[in-house]
Amino acid sequence: MTENRIYNFNAGPAALPLSVLEEIQESFLNYKGCGMSVTEISHRSKWFDDIINDAVSRTKRLLKLDDTYHVLFVQGGASTQFALIPMNFLHDGKSADYVNTGTWSTKAIKEAEIQGKSFNVAASSKDRNFCYIPKNIRFNNDAVYAHITSNNTIKGTQWASFPDTGSVPIIADMSSDIMSRPFEIEKFGLIYAGAQKNIGPAGVCMVIIRDDMLELIPDNLPSMFAYTTYSAKNSMYNTPPCFAIYTIQLVMKWLEETIGGLDKMEEINKKKGELLYNVFDSGDFYNGTTDVDSRSLMNVTFRLPSEDLEKKFIEKATDNGFGGLKGHRSVGGCRASIYNATSIEAIEALIDFMKTFEKQNG
Ligand SMILES: *Cc1c(COP(=O)(O)O)cnc(C)c1O
Repeated sequence: MTENRIYNFNAGPAALPLSVLEEIQESFLNYKGCGMSVTEISHRSKWFDDIINDAVSRTKRLLKLDDTYHVLFVQGGASTQFALIPMNFLHDGKSADYVNTGTWSTKAIKEAEIQGKSFNVAASSKDRNFCYIPKNIRFNNDAVYAHITSNNTIKGTQWASFPDTGSVPIIADMSSDIMSRPFEIEKFGLIYAGAQKNIGPAGVCMVIIRDDMLELIPDNLPSMFAYTTYSAKNSMYNTPPCFAIYTIQLVMKWLEETIGGLDKMEEINKKKGELLYNVFDSGDFYNGTTDVDSRSLMNVTFRLPSEDLEKKFIEKATDNGFGGLKGHRSVGGCRASIYNATSIEAIEALIDFMKTFEKQNG
């Protein structure tokens, strides 16, 4: 069936490496000779212990995390973390800084607001419909954390480098660019990422949390809402999303052993972005929607000269085996999500198609 697979540019759930899918398929009915599927084994078994521990070790190696950082697997997606973060860290009238760079940041802010927590929007790019990442932001030295969205999946912007927040730990929603590049982990107190964009299937959110952040968490939170519950029990206080974690383990293995680490992954992602953005920069049929210095290497958003042409473009693309190119329903236009699992070959095929479509319709 692999010959019928399309070029998948979905925003999330999104493409996974083919070799990972094949490995799942191969072991699906009888995992490592245990006589059961990986979805049938106990989360208290040695088999699953090995899976989760290997997923954690590989994540730590890839991101160069020392022992002050803990890798957790939490359910409820990134959207639940929007609520858990103020719940866990904002107490006694203390305040947090948020940078608003689009739909997801706005939702993160809303969850602090709902709980009546104190926060400050340190910067926002709302004035130009979130088409850029704010610069020279003045963060509050007393903030408990500074929250950013590292990659804006819907608007197609990404922080090229992370801001200087002094001694204030950054909390980052990295749902759509975790593992796409190396970065300085020291700045971050907590990172979270819904798996379904870049590292696995839906159903689990990876949370990376540092010791000093764990210490801020009060003991009167409901157990499932406190990050300390997950760190104390290796994410197995209750039944974890076993299959999703297993897939993450395989994706991390692919990153380490097939790709060769995050430096290599970044090189490939940069090359992919260059190829695609060059189409915008070398003509005026396809137009990027963001400032050049804020362009995302994960979600490439663009417009055609008219909405009719966009509709036709997406239809023709679908007919030709390119899926997921429709922009988010809130913004329209087109979007190619080109996460880690999207190959250079897929980008080249898309560009060929774009050029042909331009010739016929430009
Ligand atoms: C998709 C996405 C979310 C929402 O993730 P869920 O797992 O569906 O809650 C949050 N933030 C970013 C940056 C995303 O791309």
